[in-house]
Amino acid sequence: MTERKDILSLLPEELEQALTEMGEPRFRAAQIFQWLSRGVRSFEGMTNLSKELRAKLDAHFCLYEPKVLSKQVSTMDGTIKYLWELCDGNAVETVVMSYKHGNTVCVSSQVGCRQGCAFCASTIGGLVRNLRASEILDEVLFSELDSGKKISNIVLMGIGEPLDNFDNVMRFLELVNHPKGMNIGMRHISLSTCGIIEKFPALAERDLQLTLSVSLHAPDDETRSRIMPANHGRGVAALIGACRDYYEKTGRRISFEYAMIDGVNDSPEQAKLLARHARAVAAHVNLIPLNHVEERPFQPSAPEHLKNFIQILEENGVNVTVRRRLGSDVDASCGQLRRKMQKTQKGGQRST
Ligand code: SF4
Repeated sequence: MTERKDILSLLPEELEQALTEMGEPRFRAAQIFQWLSRGVRSFEGMTNLSKELRAKLDAHFCLYEPKVLSKQVSTMDGTIKYLWELCDGNAVETVVMSYKHGNTVCVSSQVGCRQGCAFCASTIGGLVRNLRASEILDEVLFSELDSGKKISNIVLMGIGEPLDNFDNVMRFLELVNHPKGMNIGMRHISLSTCGIIEKFPALAERDLQLTLSVSLHAPDDETRSRIMPANHGRGVAALIGACRDYYEKTGRRISFEYAMIDGVNDSPEQAKLLARHARAVAAHVNLIPLNHVEERPFQPSAPEHLKNFIQILEENGVNVTVRRRLGSDVDASCGQLRRKMQKTQKGGQRST
């Protein structure tokens, strides 16, 4: 028996093609796509299709609805953190945050992560598998349906390194941006990477209007290699060079993400070096108050260090913002909720 295809990862024009090959009229594709975009996850529920067609679709394609394993709502600012169960029993996190300019969803792109950043809970246990394009899409769609909050912005900053799952992430972007689907504009999407620079040219080639956020977190090789293994064999100079090439090719300004870690990356010298890198590529710097992770030794920088750091960046002509701390009464840091579930289950996650 041939394996059933993932219908939700198909673009509308590919769905048309698939239906034509099944001997069905093309307009059926638009009807099916509409059902899928509304979150219907059984062919049985597509009531304007004949019984025969529904059975045929069921034989050709698979459909799965993510289940809410856990939902935490911040009593302070309404931030919602979901833990979704996927079709194979694995789990990923999604966060919905409300800002003045609209609702932002932070999605995961992998189950686990192989990058090993020292301050991150998502990588404890390593990479389990890549998410399919449809699974990332469902994080956005079902977060919107469940929360009742219209999603206007997406950040790929949850569990996983998006550029390690390049093809599926690119397909997800096409799907979520499609006018017949959720139609979320590329300018409202940010993709965050720990610096997988080999993939920068391919991303630039696509000429997407999204924002590339580089998780820099340290401006010197010694510190960066200590907290981010991805720096080994690449180095800060190569990363800054890749950022410059990306900026020159796309004309899109890069953002440097920088988690402020007490006594590790928050010295005045590091602020000056960071300013030099940021100016070299016209990058914006986004400072992030660190969320403490139980299994990790790091603590957030003291407020006076943060203030001093900002001042040095500004004096050196860098555009800097500090990320608002949302959802601090829920397990806000990426990977913490999934980690908690793994500990409770003791056996850990299942892999495919
Ligand atoms: S910070 Fe991102 S890239 Fe680094 S381990 Fe965590 S999920 Fe992976």
